[in-house]
Amino acid sequence: MNDLQIAKTITLKPITSIAEKFGVDPEHIEMYGKYKAKLPLKAINKQQADKSNLILVSAISPTPAGEGKTTISIGLSEGLNRLNKKTTVVLREPSLGPIFGIKGGATGGGYSQVLPMEDINLHFTGDFSAIEKAHNLLSALIDNNIQSKTNSLLIDPRTIGWKRVIDMNDRALRHTIVGLGGTASGIPRETGFDITAASEIMAILCLAENLTDLKKRLGNIFIGFTFNKEPIYAKDLKAEGAMATLLKDAIKPNLVQTIEGNPAIIHGGPFANIAQGTNTVIGTLMGMSHSDYTVTEAGFGFDLGAEKFFDIKCQSAGLKPKAVVLTTTIRALKYHGGADLKSLTTPDLDALKNGLPNLEKHLENISKFKVSPVIAINKFTSDSDAEIQLIKDFAATKGIKVALADVWAKGGGGALELAQCVIDVVEAKTSNFTPLYNWESSVTDKIETIATEIYGAEYVDYTAKAKAHLRKISHLGLDHLPICIAKTQKSLSDNPKLLGRPKDFIITVREIEIAAGAGFLIPITGDIMRMPGLPAHPASENIDINDEGEITGLF
Ligand code: ADP
Ligand code: MG
Repeated sequence: MNDLQIAKTITLKPITSIAEKFGVDPEHIEMYGKYKAKLPLKAINKQQADKSNLILVSAISPTPAGEGKTTISIGLSEGLNRLNKKTTVVLREPSLGPIFGIKGGATGGGYSQVLPMEDINLHFTGDFSAIEKAHNLLSALIDNNIQSKTNSLLIDPRTIGWKRVIDMNDRALRHTIVGLGGTASGIPRETGFDITAASEIMAILCLAENLTDLKKRLGNIFIGFTFNKEPIYAKDLKAEGAMATLLKDAIKPNLVQTIEGNPAIIHGGPFANIAQGTNTVIGTLMGMSHSDYTVTEAGFGFDLGAEKFFDIKCQSAGLKPKAVVLTTTIRALKYHGGADLKSLTTPDLDALKNGLPNLEKHLENISKFKVSPVIAINKFTSDSDAEIQLIKDFAATKGIKVALADVWAKGGGGALELAQCVIDVVEAKTSNFTPLYNWESSVTDKIETIATEIYGAEYVDYTAKAKAHLRKISHLGLDHLPICIAKTQKSLSDNPKLLGRPKDFIITVREIEIAAGAGFLIPITGDIMRMPGLPAHPASENIDINDEGEITGLF
């Protein structure tokens, strides 16, 4: 059975009973149908949250299909619940881009899924639409102000960095001209679209602690300069009140359920290659307020998602994770060891051995944050016993806990060994979370620390444009912001073709975007785009709905 077929065999519990199990009075939730609800912000309790054990699930460098972080996160939380640790999994909301592209949805797989998967993957509770509208409202206000004769801020259109967004992989919108059609239709200028997940509004929603903080961050969005070279922010357009109003529901975390009827929170933030890429701080704190263990996810690989999770989100919100579960698959290690994408289901000990340096590098990276790791081997039916043993032996030589997780086939029952390893690590109190860099260091120091320490680069090269951006950042007094590098997820380097554990490479910073409202800087490396494209045969070709409203082809 495929994911959607499995999902359809499950009888869902009413969301009111899930809220009760979670610890929030069903009277206080806002229902979106029978199986989805928004949780009230007042259900966050910081003192309770401080006592919860936060577990981060990340992964080695993935294949294009994804290595199963979401699946493992859900399975692990079912396993912890089975071992009588009250656990909530807190995840990111799916973006429509990958759903119609290559990767599919983001609700887990097999018997480790969050439900109702069709709803969560398609529009869900409308958070993405609200983010898109808030973003595009600011775009409209900017173009309106340039057009205005009575209210003009004298913004130099050539300096505007703020684009528009849409939740779709649509490469044709990367570079656009707006304002064509004569004097009544605006001032022509070059701009473009990013995918909604990469919007600064998404990042702001993910880092904001409440509505006041949200509004303040929205007001601080940097737009561009006036003809007199004065910086212009969203607050100069009096935009933040209306933008926050559009986000009044999106700021509340979404409650759903797992296949085994445990609470799950899904809120904000996919795409750590081009954005900060973790779910909302509010969602995490909500989960932590009501759970002994809170399991969350950051990827693609540890180099992108987890580094940002630790250095941006944990620092910003004062979170102290207690363990990292590193999702590892035999197929990805074989891929990094030189095996062809098409032959990953064939046992190949040599390729697997050649791929181990990728795992080794991610383990070294985890230790730089002083958080204890557990390796989770995400079991695929094609894995051979000899291949599984090889990874276990490798972990033993490093003295690192490892568990075979068969959560895709067995749900929580396949995660008991992994859950016990996590409990052991947490109870041993060996983690002492320490960020990689100090926010107060110079921008280039911070970029170079991430590039050399985490990616393994020789050094960082800046294009002339990036150097100009460094000067602009200094001029705006934003040197103290943390760094959110946009980089391919396919390699530890910025070149998607360098697999395994590349060495002697240079990271090229092409440009640096400023997200002054979210509170970070985005160095863009290699050829990465903040608006993805669709493949020649997009997943949308297989998606269909019949007269009864039954959907097929989602995965
Ligand atoms: P990630 O969160 O790392 O991107 P996901 O958990 O979303 O990865 O999994 C990616 C895809 O792989 C999903 O379609 C999921 O159903 C599938 N998958 C994950 N684990 C397994 C497994 N052990 N066996 C078969 N398919 C799996
Ligand atoms: Mg995922």
